[in-house]
Amino acid sequence: MSQYRSQYRPQPRPPHARLDPRDPLVLDTRELGRRAGSMLRVQRTVPAPEGLALELVGIAAGSELRLDLKLEAVMEGVLVSGTVNGTAVGECGRCLEPVRLPVEAELLELYAYPGDRSGEDAEDIGQLDGDFIELAPRLRDAVLLALPLRPVCSEDCAGLCATCGARLDEVSPGHTHDDNDPRWSALHGLADRLAGTGPGEAAPANEEKR
Ligand SMILES: [Zn+2]
Ligand SMILES: [Zn+2]
Repeated sequence: MSQYRSQYRPQPRPPHARLDPRDPLVLDTRELGRRAGSMLRVQRTVPAPEGLALELVGIAAGSELRLDLKLEAVMEGVLVSGTVNGTAVGECGRCLEPVRLPVEAELLELYAYPGDRSGEDAEDIGQLDGDFIELAPRLRDAVLLALPLRPVCSEDCAGLCATCGARLDEVSPGHTHDDNDPRWSALHGLADRLAGTGPGEAAPANEEKR
């Protein structure tokens, strides 16, 4: 793990710069060659780059990503297919408890040989830089697609009580709020005072922005 971390360069490099072959997210195709039909399996564990995260959940930078890829020389370039596995962490979209979940992203990308770009769909495909492939951008796209928009700690998580914010999975089954119960009226008063403090806590004011 530590030897990867020392090699990894998280900084974005200028588009004209050569790729760093020591970067574990750069694939070297020299062993594969360019004869159509040849194949190469690449299995490695790499530290996750920055940016593999949505709002509520993501794969932490530096945590383990397992790549299991097949590189295949085709006429136009190199076809990269396979899976990326990691562990995402975040919070439950219903009750805000911490969640950890396995994430598997599928990769299927064609990287064209330099100079072989055919006009119309050049935007949609990657390109080799010399003999090297920069995996990070497409890997990021694939991982972001594989992350859940709204992760849950369990499929039947009941979420939070709208009145007191308690986790409904942890309170008694008959949890209700009787406004005449003095135990709650004290809490309601506290909640009202908290809601009135701090401009940063204000509800989004849509009108102001228009
Ligand atoms: Zn939950
Ligand atoms: Zn409640």
